[in-house]
Amino acid sequence: MKVGIPRALFYYSFYPMFKTFFEKLGVKTVVSSPTTKKVLDNGIKDTVTDACVPVKLYHGHVADLIGKVDFVFVPRLVCIDNEATFCPKFLGLPDMVTYSIDNLPPLITPRIDFRNGRLELLKVCYSIGRMFTKNVVKIFKAYQESIKSLKNYEQEFLEGKIPPLNIKKRLNSDINLGALGYPYMLYDQYLSLNLLKKLFDLGVSVTTPEMISREDKLKQAGKLKKTLFWHYSNGVIRTAFHMFENCNIDGIIHVTAFGCGPDFIVDKLLELEAKKRSVPFLTITLDEQTGEEGLKTRLEAFVDMLRLRRRLA
Ligand code: SF4
Repeated sequence: MKVGIPRALFYYSFYPMFKTFFEKLGVKTVVSSPTTKKVLDNGIKDTVTDACVPVKLYHGHVADLIGKVDFVFVPRLVCIDNEATFCPKFLGLPDMVTYSIDNLPPLITPRIDFRNGRLELLKVCYSIGRMFTKNVVKIFKAYQESIKSLKNYEQEFLEGKIPPLNIKKRLNSDINLGALGYPYMLYDQYLSLNLLKKLFDLGVSVTTPEMISREDKLKQAGKLKKTLFWHYSNGVIRTAFHMFENCNIDGIIHVTAFGCGPDFIVDKLLELEAKKRSVPFLTITLDEQTGEEGLKTRLEAFVDMLRLRRRLA
């Protein structure tokens, strides 16, 4: 048996957990190919025009798995922190994929909502595990191992590594920059036009939201009058507040997707807060048309400006 995992959206947050869980059950996992123009074009073909580019890309990655696997894993992620849900497009993924892409293998679409109680994840793992084995002990061990591998993955980020890109945060740089955005924007090399690597090449030290611990983000929870409705958006906002107050940050780059509903709010909130604190702020909006040279020029200009500002301070 082979289960396909699309290399998009929550892949960048949870992939090691998914992979470990299936493999400990004795099921092979196949990840869709890294993003290319062809993968994105296939996704665009299968989705409505006004969907955001990460959702279009997700469809392309699901399509990439057709003919390679027996099942495709498309969970319906609803809530994992008891305070906010994922963006509505995440909630609708299994339905969008089912009705948009032809000749799909069967989908595994568990609904994951931690508001159902502390045992939610265990229950979900049990229901998936029963599809492949009757051995309850094996399922429980697979569940435990999967949690462990997720913790290890998160720890790597906290140590300054970016496992999906295989690079490590530059230390001792003259410029300390926050690169904010959702993991599926920042860590997909094709979609982000290699933005993090470009900053790395400019000699900048970059911190991303995944490098800030959950506890540190939670300490910033009361800074907005109201908690936002969406899980990843809260992560980005709280990271920004943490950076403003604790990281001696020179500037912030917010990477956002064209057509992203939540980011219309998040981007404005970040911009206003940065302005209030006199922290230079740059928004990079990416879509399927964004050109690499234009991005490079904007990053270089921003970093030059930050260096000049430092010299003049
Ligand atoms: S949060 Fe924005 S970018 Fe992410 S899936 Fe929702 S609309 Fe798309």
